[in-house]
Amino acid sequence: MYRINENLSKEENLELAKAYTEKASELLVRFKDIIAEANKQFPGSTFGLSKARLEKHKSPNEAYQRVADAARSAYNTKSTYEMRERIAKEKADKEAQVEKIKQIEAEKNNLANEAIAYCIANGRIFGQDGFTIDTAISIANDIAYIKEKAKREAEIGDGYISFDGQNCEDECAGWNPKDRRCECGNRRVSWTDGYYSDFRNMSIYAEAY
Ligand SMILES: [Zn+2]
Repeated sequence: MYRINENLSKEENLELAKAYTEKASELLVRFKDIIAEANKQFPGSTFGLSKARLEKHKSPNEAYQRVADAARSAYNTKSTYEMRERIAKEKADKEAQVEKIKQIEAEKNNLANEAIAYCIANGRIFGQDGFTIDTAISIANDIAYIKEKAKREAEIGDGYISFDGQNCEDECAGWNPKDRRCECGNRRVSWTDGYYSDFRNMSIYAEAY
């Protein structure tokens, strides 16, 4: 509101007040246009509003709030999609993990089943001499190791094979599994099974220790 400046004359004050009025009137027209435009473009939901509430709904404050909310539409919509996609991905990841665990369990069961069958095929009786589901794989590996060793030793007979760590100082023919040392006597040698060996695929080799 215009405040009278006592240092000015009446005419001057009237002139200034008129200028104020003109400036404010012009702004007010624009302001009302904008509110009307906002209510037209972003009317919001007016369903079931009382007459007093409807007035308030069209007021500058609420109209402004609706426009401000609408101005966040792009961001909000993008965020909503991102959240949905994140949830969907988390769900898919979780399902994949459950599937993976199931697969590992199934493989473990398969291996145990194979081991049990292998032990039985090699004369073991389930439930006897510590042969259980939990020990089947280890017993099967032991059987396979012993069988592979017998097979290799039969092949070697009285001959010699080279071994891991064969760096004897003297001339050396290698190792015969009947002996604990290599032919020249420099190295102690024994069988060892490959790291990835098991009863399904047993491989053994000679190694100095
Ligand atoms: Zn030797």
